[in-house]
Parts: sequence; structure tokens; C-alpha cells
Amino acid sequence: MIDALIDKVRTGTRVTRNEALELYRRAPTHVLGRLADTIRARKHPERHVTYIIDRNVNYTNVCVAKCNFCAFYRDVGSSEGYVLGFEEIFRKIEETISVGGNQLLLQGGHNPDLPIEWYEDLFRAVKARYPDFKLHALSPPEVLHISRLSQIEPAQVIERLVAAGLDSIPGGGAEILVDRVRRLLHCYGKASADEWIDIMRHAHRAGLRTTATMMYGTVETDEERIEHLARLRDLQDETGGFTAFITWSFQPEHTERGGHEATGIEYLRTLAIARIFLDNFDNLQASWVTQGGKVGQLSLAFGANDMGSVMIEENVVRAAGASYCMDEVEIVENIENAGFTAKRRNMHYEILGDPIYREREIPRMLELATARADGDTSVPDELLNYPARSRAGKRLRLGQ
Ligand code: SF4
Repeated sequence: MIDALIDKVRTGTRVTRNEALELYRRAPTHVLGRLADTIRARKHPERHVTYIIDRNVNYTNVCVAKCNFCAFYRDVGSSEGYVLGFEEIFRKIEETISVGGNQLLLQGGHNPDLPIEWYEDLFRAVKARYPDFKLHALSPPEVLHISRLSQIEPAQVIERLVAAGLDSIPGGGAEILVDRVRRLLHCYGKASADEWIDIMRHAHRAGLRTTATMMYGTVETDEERIEHLARLRDLQDETGGFTAFITWSFQPEHTERGGHEATGIEYLRTLAIARIFLDNFDNLQASWVTQGGKVGQLSLAFGANDMGSVMIEENVVRAAGASYCMDEVEIVENIENAGFTAKRRNMHYEILGDPIYREREIPRMLELATARADGDTSVPDELLNYPARSRAGKRLRLGQ
């Protein structure tokens, strides 16, 4: 059975869910790797491995969703809660531009005191100051949160945000797209599996390209991991709107859920099966932020063709214990040592050129920046321009 499946994958025939499950459970790790690598080589024969210089900015950590796998969020009214001011975000953009970056990955908690106008004003302000800078922002559950909060249909939310400057949507908040799992992770309320898929469908129909993700290693079964991949493959067949797939393991530290992190081998097997099953995805990212640079490098032999983003700032997985940091120099070394050619890309996976540090001097980034310096509890002035929904937010507006 396994040998027949291996031949099937080698000939480029699409595998069914059951076949993928069989391979995932029974094929030796090196065989899965070789199959995934064969597919990667077929899709990317030029042996380029890409990466993007961008900055992961978390505009607020205040969140009403309270997913039990999350160590990042703070309750509404918490003294540790923050919302970044526009000026702080502009400063982060300028630092990103100074190291050759061209995009923000902008995501945050479900903050009840940020109506759609806050996002529109922010996006417009960014585009007015930095017209060529790209905004890869707001995962599907955030779009849904804005939709519910502002009582506007998701398709219209996307339309308004695109008009204000949104360029693409990151695939966060997918976790596992099976409602049984989502209920156990307390993330069904923020978006069911169908709702996540629907937001992505709206985004693709609106002309946006998006990414897709999977966080595994909590309560899901192997079947449910494959079911997740099947949901993504089906939507990709329908819209063709996904640029890339990224998977990472649950990071348990400081989370309500706790437990253990999946092993590096499990990561590589999961990445490989995704490459085999997702035959309609061109790009798979290596998640070195959660797995470390060396497993990230190994990922390039297990189906990945992209090293994701040069990490200037990270707040979410770091809150849960993962704190790997690589700047452009280190990413490029990892790619080249693995026998590939490193290329800078944009959000559409179009190649922009060779490593920028070889073209001009840029500052090394050897430590990750945080959203805010510890102890900074300042409240940005512009927040007072928007009506609050929470009691804490209303008190703030009244200056009490
Ligand atoms: S994962 Fe996102 S939505 Fe869930 S609690 Fe954390 S910040 Fe909120």
C-alpha cells in the first residue's frame, strides 16, 4: 500500500485524504522528506529559497477571544493591555525600511475599543506617508471581529479596508479548521472553520492574495490535521487565492492549555505531508521562528521553499516561550549552507533581488524588538477619537 502511494506521489497524482493519512502515519520520515523535496524541486527547479524583510507588529494585545493556547492576550482593562499609537507604528515602519523591508505583518487581539474607523485611519495614514509600503494585515478572525463590532458584513469590511490600503490578509487564526477542535481550544467563538474559510473566500474574490496556516499539536487527531489541509486545498481549487502555507507547532509555555511541544521530527513530517497533499500551493514556508534556525534549514529538505520573514519584532510566540531571532545575514547563511540561492521577495512571492546587505550596509538585528518597552503604559491620543465599547475603554475616554 505504502509503495503504491509513494509511486502515486512521484508521478504527480493528487492524493486523497485517506491516502495522505496513510502516508503521514506510516511512511518513514526520510521517505516523506524525499517525496516532499521532489515536489518542491518540480515546482521550484531554480533552487531559489526566498524570504521577505518585513516586521511583525501586534497593534494591541487586548483581546476578548481568550483562546486557551494563547499566552499573548490581556483582558480588557488589564494594566498590561496596550494599543500602539500611530506614531509608534510609523517609527516601526521607518526601522523596517532602514533594513530594506517593504511590509508590515499587522495583527492583534480582538479589542472591543477599536472600531473599523481606527483601522481605516491607520491604513490611510500609513499609505499617505509610505505609498509603496505594503500592509499584510488582519487575519480572518480579526476581520470577523471588526465585522461584528461595527455591524458591517465581512465582505464590506474587506472592501472598506482595501479602499483604505489593505494589501493582503495573513492566514492566522486558522489553528485547526475543525469545529470540534476549535471548541476545545476556545476559538470556535472567534471564528468557526466555515467562517474562517468564508472570510478568505471573500478576500480572494475581492482580489487579495492571502496566506494559509495550521497550528498543530494541541487536541487534534491526525485525521483532523488532514481535514484542515483538505479545507485549504478545496478553497484553493475554487479561488486560487492562497500564496503560501505555513505550519507551526503549538507553543505551550505560559498558556492556559499548557502541555508539551511537538518534536522537530513531527514538524518535518507535518510539513512534508502538507507539501504532498497541497498540490495546488506553490509556496511553503519554514517556521524557523518556532522550530529554530537549524530545523528551519532542514525544512528546506522537507518541502519548504521559503524562509518566511526576517524577524525584527515578535510578540506572540515569544510570549509562549519561543524566541528565535535571525536577521537577513543569518537567514541567508542558513539558506546558502543548505545548498540553495537566497532571494528577497515581496508578499506575492515575486523576486525582488539578492540579499540587500550585499548591496548596502544595513544594521544587524541580533535581538528581537518588542511591541513596547516594558513598563510603557502610555495611551495613544488618537484612541480618544473612537467610541469605546468596553467599560474600561469608556472610562478612559472620560479621563477617569
Ligand atoms: S490567539 Fe489571537 S484571538 Fe486568540 S486570544 Fe490570542 S490574541 Fe486573542
